[in-house]
Amino acid sequence: MRFACIVNELRHFVGRCGLGAVMGSKNLKAVAVRGTGKVGVADPEGLKGLNRWFMDSYRENPDVSGLSRYGTAQYINSQNETCQLPTRNFTTGFFEGAGRLSAEAIKEEVFAYDYGCYVCPVKCKKAVKGGDLDPDYGGPEYEGLGALGSLCGVSDLKAVAKANEICNSAGMDVISAGVTVAFAMECFEKGLLGREDTGGLDLRFGNGEALVKALEMTADAEGVGRLLSQGVARAAEEIGGRAKELAMHVKGLETPLHDPRRKGSLALAYSLSPTGADHLQGEHDHPFSKKGLYLERLAPLGINKPLVPESLDQEKVRFFVLTQRWNSAGNCIGICNFARGPIRVLDLDKVAGYLKAVTGWDTSLEDLLTVGERAITMARLFNIREGFTASDDTLPERFFHHYEACGRVYGGVNREAFADALKRYYRLMGWDEEGVPEKKRLHELGIDEMATGECTSA
Ligand code: SF4
Repeated sequence: MRFACIVNELRHFVGRCGLGAVMGSKNLKAVAVRGTGKVGVADPEGLKGLNRWFMDSYRENPDVSGLSRYGTAQYINSQNETCQLPTRNFTTGFFEGAGRLSAEAIKEEVFAYDYGCYVCPVKCKKAVKGGDLDPDYGGPEYEGLGALGSLCGVSDLKAVAKANEICNSAGMDVISAGVTVAFAMECFEKGLLGREDTGGLDLRFGNGEALVKALEMTADAEGVGRLLSQGVARAAEEIGGRAKELAMHVKGLETPLHDPRRKGSLALAYSLSPTGADHLQGEHDHPFSKKGLYLERLAPLGINKPLVPESLDQEKVRFFVLTQRWNSAGNCIGICNFARGPIRVLDLDKVAGYLKAVTGWDTSLEDLLTVGERAITMARLFNIREGFTASDDTLPERFFHHYEACGRVYGGVNREAFADALKRYYRLMGWDEEGVPEKKRLHELGIDEMATGECTSA
């Protein structure tokens, strides 16, 4: 199993990239921690004040109040209504059965209770029940509903919830699992896999029973499940022929449920993320396509003009560079994406305020952006050492082609604009034309000691 997660309390996951598989490969089964003392903070009163502010404010943020009420499932309908809900292995952006997977359908049919991470008041997660569903394993969120639902063409909510539960109980990443099954379904429909390969399973788009069975087999690496447990890149290699064209991944990581043909920033995020296709690498484009609250909250980064979602122009590259650094800093601090700006409740300056209250450090926004950039650059150096090159900064071929949805045609990512955007990104990051960080930038970032061998450009 290549996409095993690290799991705690049965339903909280360190997903993506198979970190659980890394633990398994080192014979590390679990890490148990027990504490007895208190964790000290630099300014307890300041922290209490910020927490009071958070409790008073989070419901006023339109996105966060929706997360509290519906969880990330709230995005299924909005993605579908704008014809960009990845469907049937990214062949279209509209799923006729999306309503059956919506947040409202979950509330009506299978909702058990709200839950969340330790002491978080937002409680954006929704456990599900009904039939043989076990709420102890939580419930499907947007990515799971998309990957196991629309991407596989399955609108049977109970089957999708069961598929999600199988992933959670086996510790499988739902995005990678769903994208891999959707890939296998397209291979089956195109004759690249037959019943002799699937053990008689009718692995067609829309077959919820086959989805559930395929995931059970994947968890046990049994029959066709052995192939699927390798993820799309390796499975496509093994199947051969045209299968590679249907494998949706970047650097071996299966693509999340957002279409870069509609979001230029996502085209950069997927291709440039050091960990492969990652939808949380930078901010998504649409909220910043018009004047209003979200754009105003980007002002501290010097971004004031509305963006064209599909564009890969100079402004978009700058937007991606800055929001990637900001998100990277958030990852270094360990702050939830659903809590911080520019979309969510914590403004950019509030994050620095929290950091100061906890650590006592006086950290400016500029300092945080440097921390973020340093982490991105170090990951780049790691990848170069492991053999990745600029040729890996790309997208699955399908994204360079148009798709049809809602009675119209949506263009593919423009290859020329994409290539120019990558070059511009390298320059802004202080990397050479081959995407190799230059010594001068490493010095500016305070990591001269990493300037070694083939990983660094003079
Ligand atoms: S910490 Fe984030 S993911 Fe966890 S419940 Fe709160 S908002 Fe949701």
